[in-house]
Parts: sequence; C-alpha cells; structure tokens
Amino acid sequence: MNDMNPPIVLLGAPVAARIASELSATVAACPIPPRLVALLANDREESRTYLRKKAEAAARVGVAFAVQEMPRSEWTTAAVRNRVLQLNQDPAVHGIIVQLPLADGMESDAVLAALDPQKDVDGMHPANTGASLLAFPGLRPATAKAIVALLAHYDIPLAGKRAVIVGRSRIVGKPLIGMLLEANATVTVCHRQTRDLASETRRAEVLIVAAGTPGLITADMVADGAVIVDTGWSRVEGKIRGDVDPAALVRAQAYAPVPGGVGPVTVAMLLANTVEAYLQRRASHV
Ligand code: ADP
Repeated sequence: MNDMNPPIVLLGAPVAARIASELSATVAACPIPPRLVALLANDREESRTYLRKKAEAAARVGVAFAVQEMPRSEWTTAAVRNRVLQLNQDPAVHGIIVQLPLADGMESDAVLAALDPQKDVDGMHPANTGASLLAFPGLRPATAKAIVALLAHYDIPLAGKRAVIVGRSRIVGKPLIGMLLEANATVTVCHRQTRDLASETRRAEVLIVAAGTPGLITADMVADGAVIVDTGWSRVEGKIRGDVDPAALVRAQAYAPVPGGVGPVTVAMLLANTVEAYLQRRASHV
C-alpha cells in the first residue's frame, strides 16, 4: 500500500470534455462538416460497439460519420484495399478508419498501407508510424495521443523519467516510443518475448500497459509511487477489466483506470485527428 496519499485517479472524462468542446467550436466554424468514414469487414460484435461509440462522439462535435459495411463477398484484402483507394480519391471524405481486426485471412498491413496518410486518422499507415518516431508532423494513433494528453492534463512530468511500455502494437506501443522520447522520458518497451517482465515494470516511474491481457500486471510488479496508465480493455465474465490488477493500482501515486481513464480521451482524439486531417486538406487546397 502506498503509505503517503491515496492515488490520484486520472479520469478521462474532463479531458475528453475539454477536447470535445474545442472541437465543437472548430467544427462549427467549418463551411462543411469534416467527414469520417469507417470500413467494416468483420462480423464481430465488439467492432460494432466501438463504431457506435465513435458515431455518438462524432455526432456530439458535429463530425459527419458513416460506417461502410463491406458485404461478406468482399471480405478480401484486394476488395478492402480497393475501397480504401476509392475513399482516398473522394474529396468529400477527410478521414478513413479501417476497423480492425479484419476478418480472418485478410492482410491488414496491405490494407493499411493503401491509406492516404493524410486521411489515416488512426495513424496506422507506415508513414505515420515513422513520423511518430521522428517527431515529424503526421497523424498519431488516438490511443497514444490520449495517453500523452491525459498525463499532461494532470501535470504528470515525463522529462527524465523511466517510462516502461508493455506492448509493442501499432496503435499504442510503437507510436509511444517516439512520443515519450519527444517528452524526454527514458523509454523501455516490453512484449511477449521480454524475459523478466516484472523486473522491467518494477523499474517504471511511469508504466503504460497495452497488452490486452486482463490482470497481467500484478501488485508485485509495480513500484510504490509509480504512475500507471492502463489501456487494456477486456470483457471477463461480463465485466470490463484492464491489464492492471486493482491491487497494483493502490500502490500508485496516480493511475488511469479501466474503464474511465484513457478510453474516453481516445474517442475524442480520433475526432481531433479527423478535424486535423480536414484542416490540413483545406490548407493544401487553397
Ligand atoms: P493492443 O491493441 O492493446 O495494443 P495488440 O494485441 O495489438 O494489443 O498487442 C499486444 C501487445 O502486448 C503485443 O506487443 C504483445 O507482445 C504484448 N503482450 C501481450 N501479452 C504480453 C505478456 N504476457 N507480456 C508482455 N507483453 C505482452
């Protein structure tokens, strides 16, 4: 137990509300609403749930949002790539989401590489991943941006800190490497082949967990007084669980919970990316 103060809970709602109100004002001043299209090529219930959340949040800030559901006969890499290429060419579309995972047998890398990087609001095109490492302008994945924004909102310093990321995914771990380096943290990235995960996570002053394994981080794996950001999101026996065990969180100086921490900010950041993509396009067409 952290014997000083109870941990600060890094709630996402106030951060998301601030971003949404800024976006609403920006969108209200746009001559036409920014338009976001999501491509769906699977039959997973959770993908539909995510898309519903994105649609509701888009409606609140005035972003036009549409889901294009690919017919089952077009659940192929080539067909989805072609649809992406069409959307790239469509001047009325400013942002494109390829909802992952694609149905079995499809190559998501090949589909993502077809995206126009300037419409890639999930920040998954290799050019955008590369830009995140070099701190070049570009669209960053919403979850990674949300983590950095949440820490900034609560004045959690990163400069000089030992930051440990668990997970090397395209949407969290990889872009965070560049973003946390840019914030002057000392960055370690752990993954499935990390030999002694606990010895790495125990050294973390800022621990960011994005492994998708509920309860992976137990109390013995964290240092007293660490800042812990949980981005896991799994349904276990009808309950939403993060990657960090609640017994680990009580040792923290501050933590972002699941649900209620990074999640709400992530959706707001997706819309921020859409508005950014829209403004970039307009700026380059005047
Ligand atoms: P997400 O979408 O949450 O980022 P992915 O499924 O794309 O998740 O990636 C999961 C990441 O978590 C991978 O990089 C994987 O190596 C890492 N990971 C999963 N389980 C463990 C584990 N037990 N120990 C360390 N890393 C893990």
